[in-house]
Amino acid sequence: MLAPEVETRPWAEQLAIDDAAYREQLAYLFSRSGFYREKLTTAGFTSADAAGGLAEIAALPLTEKQEIRASCTPDNPIGAHLCVSRSEIVRIYSTSGTTGTPSYIPLTAGDLDNWVTGSARSYAASGVAAGQRIVSTYGAGPFAAGAALDAFERIGLSHIPLGSGNTERLVRAIELLEPEAAALTPSYAAHLVEWSGERGFDLSASSVERLLVAGEPGGGEPAFRARLEAGWSAQVTEAMGIGDIGVSLWGECEQRNGMHLGARGFVHAELIDPDSRAALELEDGATGELVLTHLRHRAAPLLRFRTRDHVRVQTSPCACGRTGTRVTCIGRTDDMLVVRGVNVFPSAVREVVGAFAPAVSGQVVVRPRAPGPKQDPPLPVCVELARGTSADAALATAIRERLREALVVQTQVELVPWRTLERSDYKSKLVEPPTDVEGP
Ligand SMILES: [Zn+2]
Repeated sequence: MLAPEVETRPWAEQLAIDDAAYREQLAYLFSRSGFYREKLTTAGFTSADAAGGLAEIAALPLTEKQEIRASCTPDNPIGAHLCVSRSEIVRIYSTSGTTGTPSYIPLTAGDLDNWVTGSARSYAASGVAAGQRIVSTYGAGPFAAGAALDAFERIGLSHIPLGSGNTERLVRAIELLEPEAAALTPSYAAHLVEWSGERGFDLSASSVERLLVAGEPGGGEPAFRARLEAGWSAQVTEAMGIGDIGVSLWGECEQRNGMHLGARGFVHAELIDPDSRAALELEDGATGELVLTHLRHRAAPLLRFRTRDHVRVQTSPCACGRTGTRVTCIGRTDDMLVVRGVNVFPSAVREVVGAFAPAVSGQVVVRPRAPGPKQDPPLPVCVELARGTSADAALATAIRERLREALVVQTQVELVPWRTLERSDYKSKLVEPPTDVEGP
């Protein structure tokens, strides 16, 4: 454990510390953040005292990414939530965004240090230890994920950055430099198993003992995880962050039963119902969208930020000794489809279909007929067969039946030959929107 005194602190004690930090953060927002001063005042909270403490946080308005975007001007391209002067900013990350216009994430030196501290705790929880080697495939380019790379140094790992886009070089480095760990997206980890198998290189015989996966949902799904663990003969642990709030905020320990909040003390987590936006109790088994609040952020802090990440909560004590609620990501709210009132996550579809291995390859694409989340049944699902397998009506029926039982959704399963669906060295696209509809 990187910081045992922090990570095993009784949660009630943590909450008391966080409550004090939160009240200071609110006062800071009222004095420095034009965005939040206006937003909170409009909502009827005219001062930090009026907004109260963490126990009252659910009464405050949520923050949507689009609101921040809408506050950007040519004079202030970062947004009205910017709280510091130009000279205090040491780094500015970009997010690609879906509209094509990047949004900017500024950090002070202190913000960046807190990011690395939290990320290092999250990654260290996986069991990687100082002195070991790790290959990483995340770019140190414009995106916030690059900051997670500093966490490897903080842990004392010997970091071998390889980036994505050159699988040959990555596999060569694994072969020659014999790293104990690899950090990559679950999609790329799966792709590498196939890629290596086709070229006669056995990843399961490589030096890699741990796969640290992040960047998209999937690493926590049992069937998908089992496939990665078998292909690599390595232990898979998942980490999760969100650029606007922080990198690898959450990380799984060796018990592998949900991610701990490595960024405890820096970030406060809540759960909401994404439809009604009502706050939900963080009780065992609860599911909902994760909402995050900065507690000690300076450059452009966010309050009750909607992450669009849909998670399941675990509150039982973890054998590792770390305290606090754990979460497992079950999908992105943005990817969620609603079929006859039932929420369906494409990553959950992939998980159910993946259990039909070795008959299927594990690659799946959901092809909704209509734009937007609301869909009429049956939902078209394209399932790729394993190498050397041919389409079989009984298999399609069995998959359809299992999807109906597990996810309560009527689907239309189309089996396609091996290698039909696109592989990715970053994030997989699990939904293909209808092509005859114009984008936003
Ligand atoms: Zn644990």
